[in-house]
Amino acid sequence: MTASCGGMSCLNGLSNLNNGQASFAIREVAAVVLIPESEDRDGVKMTLNKAFAIFFQQTGIKFYIKDWRTISWRASSRTGVLQQVADEMKGYVQPYDVVIAIYTMNLFQQFVFNALGGWMGVVDDVYRRFVVVRRSRNLHVLEHELGHLFLFKTTHDGGVMGAYIVCAVGDHLCTGNSVCFNEAERQEIIENKWRDFSTKPELSERQSLIHD
Ligand SMILES: [Zn+2]
Repeated sequence: MTASCGGMSCLNGLSNLNNGQASFAIREVAAVVLIPESEDRDGVKMTLNKAFAIFFQQTGIKFYIKDWRTISWRASSRTGVLQQVADEMKGYVQPYDVVIAIYTMNLFQQFVFNALGGWMGVVDDVYRRFVVVRRSRNLHVLEHELGHLFLFKTTHDGGVMGAYIVCAVGDHLCTGNSVCFNEAERQEIIENKWRDFSTKPELSERQSLIHD
């Protein structure tokens, strides 16, 4: 069966999801969402829930928003924002699995992004549990970052995980990008379905580092 993606749904997930009890069991992933005061929470919530549904359909892994926290960004670099998120979560005593932080670009950053491109989302390469997105309404970006949380063998391969760089210049080249994982990616995600987010996975490469 060829992976066929129409709008919100990926047909590649459904047919295999019921094979075997282990892959059928639903894994729930508790996400804490960090969001600047100025952001439209309802808009973010709507897109996140769409992204979660698309991910669930393909993998049997169900992200849900456990909590919201406000963040005012001091950092702006990829590793800077990840470190800030990791530091802020040290004060969070309740259990959680992952963090999805929404970064709002200021006008200057937006201008540079439109002209030159830049990162749209980043995930830490230590725990693979902290995600920061600068394109919170882009399902491809969200799906891509969620994929990183369960894919350790390769960093950027095909499908949703295809090289990000083609997507970097403004948003133009990103429109119409797939939200469907290829079969190899989907299998690896399902292999790592029950991973513990408080332990450091073995990664083929590490770039975006944070320290404890
Ligand atoms: Zn990536």
